[in-house]
Amino acid sequence: MGAALEIRNLHVNVEDKPILRGVDLIIRQGEVHALMGPNGSGKSTLANVLMGSPTYEVTAGQVIFDGQDLLEMEADERSRAGLFLAFQYPISIPGVTLANFLRLAINAHIKAEKPDSKGISVGDFRKLMKEKMDGLHMEHSFAGRYLNEGFSGGEKKRAEILQMAVLEPKIAILDETDSGLDIDALRVVSEGVVKLRGPNLGALVITHYQRILNYIKPDYVHVMYQGQIVESGGPDLALQLEEAGYDWIREKVEG
Ligand code: ADP
Ligand code: MG
Repeated sequence: MGAALEIRNLHVNVEDKPILRGVDLIIRQGEVHALMGPNGSGKSTLANVLMGSPTYEVTAGQVIFDGQDLLEMEADERSRAGLFLAFQYPISIPGVTLANFLRLAINAHIKAEKPDSKGISVGDFRKLMKEKMDGLHMEHSFAGRYLNEGFSGGEKKRAEILQMAVLEPKIAILDETDSGLDIDALRVVSEGVVKLRGPNLGALVITHYQRILNYIKPDYVHVMYQGQIVESGGPDLALQLEEAGYDWIREKVEG
């Protein structure tokens, strides 16, 4: 049995206002889930809570990751346990290249397991980067860029997908923050998820664009509305949303 991320009856407030109102969702290794829903429905709030952002107050419910209480874990512990959250490191660090950064991230994971380890060797790291970048059809020169400095939306996504490829998480959460997302960025994310997909990767792809799901073909599709998952189904649910939009969801919920 692989790892699972189990979200149970999760209630979250932002500045005393209830935003998530009882979310239930289980993502297992090997499964790709899409979380859709209109703007403002709470999708990014869910991602941010899973990331451990302090702005969000969990008022009820639980999140269990691979048998552990996720909400009690620090952000770096979550990462070392095998949860990958996009935008975990959204900062640009002057003078730190993407390669440097990825090496630091790998070494942090290695040293958490084996405190005496010196980390990955230069040779092994080069080999790993080459293998991962080739697998994603990325130019090797990209790894020499300074992290997030002047990155386009597509390049930020590319860095994120590379980070995911290198860290090999059990479960990955990818939030397509709805603003400023261009076609290039969408394509990078979908191709990356398709390439990395396999029995060891569970993914929650958060998007309000139906289009991305034409590439990714999720195993499960969920619709969030006003802080709850109001509809779940297979890939055909995404097609239904593409044709009919979210109005029927609204009508169904509000009667
Ligand atoms: P989605 O990602 O589905 O578009 P969000 O989770 O971003 O939705 O937002 C859900 C609701 O929570 C919105 O009404 C938004 O204004 C509010 N919200 C989210 N984050 C914050 C925050 N940091 N401060 C204040 N309000 C927030
Ligand atoms: Mg959002």
